[in-house]
Amino acid sequence: MTSSHSAPHVVIVGAGIVGLGHAVAALDAGCRVTVIEQDAAAVLASVRNFGHVCTSAQAGELGELALEANPIWLSLVERAGVEARRSGTLVVARSAAEEAVLHEFFAERAPEGARLVTGAEAGALLRIPDPSRLRAGALLPADLTADPRSAVARIAAWVDAHERGEVRFSTAVREVREGAVETSRGRIDADHVVVAAGHLVGRLFPGIAEQGRVQECALQMMRVRAPREMGLGPAVLTGTSMLRYGAFAGPAAEALRAEIRASRPELLEIDANVMFTQQADGTLLVGDSHASHDTAPPFLDERWSQILLDETAALLDTPRLDVLARWQGLYATSGEQDILRAAPAPGVSVVAVTTGVGMTVGLALGARTIATL
Ligand SMILES: Cc1cc2nc3c(=O)[nH]c(=O)nc-3n(C[C@H](O)[C@H](O)[C@H](O)COP(=O)(O)OP(=O)(O)OC[C@H]3O[C@@H](n4cnc5c(N)ncnc54)[C@H](O)[C@@H]3O)c2cc1C
Repeated sequence: MTSSHSAPHVVIVGAGIVGLGHAVAALDAGCRVTVIEQDAAAVLASVRNFGHVCTSAQAGELGELALEANPIWLSLVERAGVEARRSGTLVVARSAAEEAVLHEFFAERAPEGARLVTGAEAGALLRIPDPSRLRAGALLPADLTADPRSAVARIAAWVDAHERGEVRFSTAVREVREGAVETSRGRIDADHVVVAAGHLVGRLFPGIAEQGRVQECALQMMRVRAPREMGLGPAVLTGTSMLRYGAFAGPAAEALRAEIRASRPELLEIDANVMFTQQADGTLLVGDSHASHDTAPPFLDERWSQILLDETAALLDTPRLDVLARWQGLYATSGEQDILRAAPAPGVSVVAVTTGVGMTVGLALGARTIATL
């Protein structure tokens, strides 16, 4: 990179976790950084999720990125006051098919430190009065739980307070080209531009989004009161989670899919990943369903929410859960690739996580992009 200033200027479009991952990496590399965010605060995918940094359940490149991102999260706890804790993840098995997936995982690819626990141990971790319906669990201690409502705001504040950093909110980027971005508040010159616009990447680069088959994935989420004092335990994944994450893929997961199709088809109909994280205020973030659209309709389907709530209540051995908030999440999805990367012009990088693991891998993407500049 060349620059008229002593430090190269990296301009980043988007103050979600991917944009901020690039900002942190660029500041650490000695660059000058300007992050441009169209809203007065980032309110899209990076604040609407579980805050689950699900390092241990990824495979392939996502697994490598997840391992790289985990220490960056911990550094931001120190540096930026991000609320994140090493919660670990508990994957619960309630049927023989689910238990078989865990055995396959431990036989073939469980990460160091992961431990197979009994149903009773899993029940004790969840403070379930009668754990007899739990057959086994996988405890994955490396994983983190962050507070998604505050994490990106804290990182953005840290970037803005940095002597070489600035975050400009309420400023929309209209055009990106070599050496500059045009915004709703005028032009900003750049040595390098990183576009981290999430599911909105096609508004700036429709051809790249079309070629990468990027769509909007709409998800239904809820915050509920914990049914009892649960302490601050692990993030919890269930059988439907085993169908999603690469580390569980294999013959046993396919057998589980067939079992769920026969016994609980509604879970596949809403493409559920029944899981929750425990937040510091004692509430649980519960979800989620998945539906892909070119443009997602904004409506939450109450039947879908009830399926997720009933599943979670049954797991927690409680008749019902008190819902405190409901919302729709949106993220970029694609059947083509997990991470969309493009270089539409010299000095311009487009980066989007196109599967639902941006909180897990997003911070590491920044380090990788900046290392190539
Ligand atoms: C309900 C839900 C649950 C999830 N759970 C998890 C989880 O537990 N763990 C996990 O790893 N991942 C999870 N994910 C996925 C994860 O949240 C996303 O992959 C990640 O947040 C994407 O980050 P991003 O920065 O690319 O996108 P975003 O957070 O959407 O940020 C993009 C930003 O770019 C801005 N922007 C766009 N266009 C412009 C423009 N032209 N000018 C200026 N600004 C612009 C937007 O306003 C936005 O703030 C979940 C997602 C959802 C929705």
